[in-house]
Amino acid sequence: MSDCCCSANTKQICPECGSTCKSVGMSTLYHQVRFPENQSLITDSYYFCPAKTCSIAYFSNAGNTIPKQHLRSYKAIQNDALCYCFDIEAEQYLSALKDHQAEPIKAFVMQRTQAGECACEIRNPSGQCCLVNFKRLENEHNTDV
Ligand SMILES: [Zn+2]
Repeated sequence: MSDCCCSANTKQICPECGSTCKSVGMSTLYHQVRFPENQSLITDSYYFCPAKTCSIAYFSNAGNTIPKQHLRSYKAIQNDALCYCFDIEAEQYLSALKDHQAEPIKAFVMQRTQAGECACEIRNPSGQCCLVNFKRLENEHNTDV
C-alpha cells in the first residue's frame, strides 16, 4: 500500500504562525530541501507548515526548523500550486471551474493517482495527496463541479 493518500498523520501547531501542521516523512524532506541544505538534514519527526506567508517549511518537536526558501517547491508554493505532481496552479484550476472545464482536469489527476502515477509524497511539500487541495479549493469557492 502506498501511504500517498491514506496515511494517518499526527498534528502540531506551527511555532511561528500557529497553523495546524501535519507530520511529514524524511523522504519528503530529502526530495524537497535544496542542495546543499539537504546534505545536513537532521533525522527527526517533522511537520509541514502549509501557510504560504509563513517562513517555516518544516519544524520538529526537537526544535529543528527548515525555512520555505530552502525548498525546491518554493516558487510553486508562492504560485498557489494546487497539484505539485502535474504542475497545476490554483488560478488555472479556478478559471477552469468558471469555464466549466474543471471536470476533466480533476478526473485526470484522480486517474493518475489511482494508477499510482502521482508523486505527492516527494513532489508535494506536505507529503500529502494533492487531491486534498482540489477539495479545499472547491469548498472555499463553493462551486459545484
Ligand atoms: Zn507556519
